[in-house]
Amino acid sequence: MNNINTININTSKRIEMIDITPNILQLIKEQKISEGICSIFVPHTTAAVTINENADPTVVKDMLNTLNKLIPHQNNYLHSEGNSDAHIKASLIGASEVIFIQNGKLMLGTWQGVFFCEFDGPRSRKVWIKFLTS
Ligand code: ZN
Repeated sequence: MNNINTININTSKRIEMIDITPNILQLIKEQKISEGICSIFVPHTTAAVTINENADPTVVKDMLNTLNKLIPHQNNYLHSEGNSDAHIKASLIGASEVIFIQNGKLMLGTWQGVFFCEFDGPRSRKVWIKFLTS
């Protein structure tokens, strides 16, 4: 039970946010975890993970539109790969999250979900999940 779990994600757009809450809940269920901490890590330099509203899908659209306005795809960047905006977005949003688990449930707020954030897709991505159980 003390291993690192991998969630594989094939993204379909250059920039998108994918709700991975069900994937994490599935792992908790499969491994019969009732109490502990869920640590989530994205091992990529142009992707990230965040927690935000998964009830109204326009929230995610507004977040992505605003990120694109703040950090445009083209902006005389020096990095020759042409994806500097994705690197900047990834660092702003961050590579990890930690959530408590109680009674077999992720202790998220009513409107919260966990989102994998793609900033330079489409690509094959992974998210590492580690459960620390008490
Ligand atoms: Zn790059």
